[in-house]
Amino acid sequence: MNKIGETTLQIDLSALEHNYRFLKSKLAQETKFLAVVKAFAYGSDMVNIAKKMESLGTDYFAVAYVKEGILLRDAGITSPILVLHPQPVNFHELITYSLEPSLYSPKILNLFLEVAKDKGLTTYPVHIKFNTGLNRLGFWENDVDAIVEHLKDKKELKVISVFSHLAASEDATEKPFSLRQIETFQKISEELNQNLGYAPFRHMLNTSGIINYPEAQFEMVRSGIGLYGYGNDKKIDGQLKPVAILKTIISQIHKIEPNESVGYNRAYTSENYRTTATLPLGHADGIGRQYGNLKGHVLIKGKSAPIIGNVCMDMIMVDITDIDCKEGDEVVVFGQNQSAEDFAASANTISYEILTAISPRVKRVIINS
Ligand SMILES: *Cc1c(COP(=O)(O)O)cnc(C)c1O
Repeated sequence: MNKIGETTLQIDLSALEHNYRFLKSKLAQETKFLAVVKAFAYGSDMVNIAKKMESLGTDYFAVAYVKEGILLRDAGITSPILVLHPQPVNFHELITYSLEPSLYSPKILNLFLEVAKDKGLTTYPVHIKFNTGLNRLGFWENDVDAIVEHLKDKKELKVISVFSHLAASEDATEKPFSLRQIETFQKISEELNQNLGYAPFRHMLNTSGIINYPEAQFEMVRSGIGLYGYGNDKKIDGQLKPVAILKTIISQIHKIEPNESVGYNRAYTSENYRTTATLPLGHADGIGRQYGNLKGHVLIKGKSAPIIGNVCMDMIMVDITDIDCKEGDEVVVFGQNQSAEDFAASANTISYEILTAISPRVKRVIINS
């Protein structure tokens, strides 16, 4: 079943549905759900993920940049799309494709308002982002007056939502900080509503926020990593299913004698007789050099095969001395019996990074659609 003949990222749409239903079960029925599909849906397949999420009834999508939103529109996605980090150079296209900008600074608000006036827009939907402690993007609390001055009784733009982002929603030791962020956001949004004369909907929680602070779900939540099967928490991971499964095959097997070396710069030297397998994926496919030299391992016939020597551009070599396998056999890199979170941890990083690193060269195959 689902036999592969080359390095393949399988995208399991039934896992996506399972994860969506799990996350929804943590929320009030009326809370809107925004699916974060930036970075090719966390390195998977943005169009197919978005189509599935639209069919499941998600309320909103978010991408980071305008060009990602255009890909969704070109694929026929009609749901509202929030662009989290639009650049002014793309404002015209953003409007052409009916994308909705996050306005996060006085400068961005002014520039967008100018374009809106130029184009004669009326009540164009925009989202106001507040910084409550992440110190990455967002207006400050004391910008509220200026925002209201620009937007109150102006016909060009309509504030559809206000939002903020938690800095450490997965980290229990930072709970007091997260609670303070939530409180600050609540206060700012009340102030904005009062002065604006209407009440945009509010959202603050990412995946770990949904798990740890459901009381702050407001009118919408924004989930990315949870949809793809990871929750920054072992207990939650056990209840989610990985959407992306990275598999490859054995290209060639070598018998290595004692004191032979394997790979570039002879980074691995055998102490005794070893058997190695060469696999057709390397750092150009997203397996960074930090996974080499016994840090990362793959699974063959359910057994662990450590990556030996340096990761090459197009290949890695693994030690299969104790594994009964042959050329052409399937290899699991992550997503089945080894999670992307565990694989990432072997190189001191996180699921988000390995998932989004899988390059376009790797074939995507939809399963269980
Ligand atoms: C990426 C992103 C999210 C999604 O976070 P997850 O931890 O993947 O659920 C939510 N909100 C904003 C502003 C983001 O940039």
